[in-house]
Amino acid sequence: MKALQYVEIGRPPEVREVPTPEPGPGEVRLRVTAAGACHSDSFVMGLSDEEYEQFGYPLPMTLGHEGVGVVDALGAGVEAVAVGDAVAVYGPQGCGRCHACAQGKENYCPHAAELGITPPGLGSDGAMAEHLIVRDPRHLVPLGDLDPVTHVALTDAGLTPYHAITGSLTKLGPGSTAVVIGAGGLGHVAIQLLRALTPATVVALDISEEKLALAREVGAHHAFASDEQAAGRIAEAVGSTTVTAVFDFVAAQPTVDLGAALLGPESDQVLVGVGAASTDVGMLARPYDSTIRGPYWGSRSELIEVFELARTGQVSVETERFSLDEAPEAYHRLHEGTLRGRAVVVP
Ligand code: NAD
Ligand code: ZN
Repeated sequence: MKALQYVEIGRPPEVREVPTPEPGPGEVRLRVTAAGACHSDSFVMGLSDEEYEQFGYPLPMTLGHEGVGVVDALGAGVEAVAVGDAVAVYGPQGCGRCHACAQGKENYCPHAAELGITPPGLGSDGAMAEHLIVRDPRHLVPLGDLDPVTHVALTDAGLTPYHAITGSLTKLGPGSTAVVIGAGGLGHVAIQLLRALTPATVVALDISEEKLALAREVGAHHAFASDEQAAGRIAEAVGSTTVTAVFDFVAAQPTVDLGAALLGPESDQVLVGVGAASTDVGMLARPYDSTIRGPYWGSRSELIEVFELARTGQVSVETERFSLDEAPEAYHRLHEGTLRGRAVVVP
């Protein structure tokens, strides 16, 4: 089968012919119907040799941690799904037995690493291929009649902002303000989730005019350039120099500094982007009781909830389609920052 693989550190990914995998006992094989390209893949492919070593991902590795497909082969003993079922893959897989996993929070399983369990496309072979092996049927969420191409990105670009936002939900009541920094794949879904889940005024910031236009289209009340004037523009727009929560889908030094400057007492600064930045914390360094956190992906139950929001038309993903042969171009466009919403590869 064909697969898009990261082969050599520092080189662009390549479409290669690889053996079609067979499901082992308890495993499920999917015929992939769509796979999303995430900035985290670009981040991984941008790491130097030493940095990459820390992650310990084997190479070559098939990319793609957002995947949907149709079950096309079952390993011995699998009864929970049937050949022909349309499913989405829950990516952040854990041991399935500990306290975190029992709550569906496999994204926070403390045993996954020691057991060598890694998400598809982030340590194990991922979804940018004709077929994908899924370790256990519990990682599959029914897709029903949702279109695979326009919904695949919900498995990360939907789930991750959903989890980030639910962590601040009790604060985002009437009169609150939420700032979304970076209206890309995750950010443009975050805006819709904030509108669906909260009465907050939503302000989007980005460095691209096209992304600001998309932010307005998907429901941002205000959308401004992410620059030195942003804090002033927000204050003018919402009538306050502080906001309730900042969801930062970049988390580079300028956005972390800007986010910190927008906080008031009890505000949340939520760093979702994997950028590297530093910031002062502590009693005297920040407004009283303000928080800073770095959430990772989301729980299994949250993924089911995200799909329910899609089913009821409350969230959708802007997608640009690419064939598997065009997948390197999808990552090139992601790197350039010229995609509208999410790049989705259709094998
Ligand atoms: P993306 O490239 O689709 O979107 C990033 C957006 O940020 C773009 O619209 C870009 O124009 C904008 N941007 C860049 N620099 C900016 C700045 N200085 N100010 C404002 N906007 C700026 O990326 P994505 O796939 O949506 O991923 C976003 C980030 O989230 C990445 O860092 C990714 O690695 C990370 N991520 C984290 C998790 C997690 O679990 N925490 C999960 C998935 C992705
Ligand atoms: Zn991702």
